[in-house]
Amino acid sequence: MLNFTVGPVMSNEEVREIGSEQVPYFRTPEFSELILESEDLMNKLLDAPENSRCAFITGSGTASMEAVIMNVFTKKDKVLIINGGGFGHRFVELCQLHEIPYESIDLEMHKDITEDILKEYENKGFTAFLVNIHETSTGVHYNLDMISEFCNRNNLLLVVDAISSFLADELDMSKNNIDVVITGSQKALACPPGISIIVLSPKAIERVEENTCKSMYLDLKNALKNGERGQTPFTPAVGILIQINARLRQIFAEGGVEAEIEKIGTLAENFREQIKDLPFEITSQSLSNAVTPLHPTTASADDIFHILKDEYGIWICPNGGDLKDTLFRVGHIGDLTIDDNNKLIEALKDMQKRNLI
Ligand SMILES: *Cc1c(COP(=O)(O)O)cnc(C)c1O
Repeated sequence: MLNFTVGPVMSNEEVREIGSEQVPYFRTPEFSELILESEDLMNKLLDAPENSRCAFITGSGTASMEAVIMNVFTKKDKVLIINGGGFGHRFVELCQLHEIPYESIDLEMHKDITEDILKEYENKGFTAFLVNIHETSTGVHYNLDMISEFCNRNNLLLVVDAISSFLADELDMSKNNIDVVITGSQKALACPPGISIIVLSPKAIERVEENTCKSMYLDLKNALKNGERGQTPFTPAVGILIQINARLRQIFAEGGVEAEIEKIGTLAENFREQIKDLPFEITSQSLSNAVTPLHPTTASADDIFHILKDEYGIWICPNGGDLKDTLFRVGHIGDLTIDDNNKLIEALKDMQKRNLI
């Protein structure tokens, strides 16, 4: 299998080997040490401000999105959400469900945020800003500097869902004054799904401490308290946490976050160069290194997905709903190489020869 989806993605050999081992008991000093080390490495990778904390949630990315909404906000807030696709819409639904006052900026699909759009929301009594910095459903990477400056001017708490952008695009909590970053195990961290990670600035931690969370499992106060000694309140996905630790250490050993971003960026650039004479259009106004969203001009996107999977053993990422036939995505995260890009291009050129695209 050759996997170009956006998650779960392919894991490297060391991570896969850990997956084949017995899962250890976890209420031990050794496991606590591993968690504390992972927290430290996460804070470093994100350049988190001093005294930031990191919570490892057993649950996919959406569990952490929900935990943030439930623990960081109250009915007294008024949050501004960028809603430009499936994941932006998820934040909208979470605010509705948990009765957090909000307004959404409903962006045209495939489009980036602009100063002109943001201008309308200046000085309107908002308390926080929620953005999926890479709207993975359409492959739009929003302008973080612009958003960050808007938040600074308006004194807003900034929450960034970077689930598919972490390790693929630059993301610096200190530089951009970000209060909460959410990420997950199955995107560029390239581990199996099951763990999501929330990094909180001291300002965000203060909010968590002051709030009462109406959930036992997603109570971040409890998670942070246990985290002080490198533990979690309940049995976590122990094996995946061990894989994440190995992967974080690898990233540091291989040149840190810059080297990782460069690797993914090089793969993306190589792929985008190689598709120039294929009948595809890149739809996004502003690309992340993680994904290339493509509109096929001569065939159905869903057909292309099925043919590549069934006849070539190559997985790309289909879209659902209204975009099913018009858009597919090629991921550049996970254990991929230029040679893998060449195999995908070869398959696509073969499909072209067969008049399938
Ligand atoms: C993958 C992803 C999520 C989380 O989805 P889960 O299926 O819950 O892991 C959330 N936001 C973005 C931007 C994503 O790419």
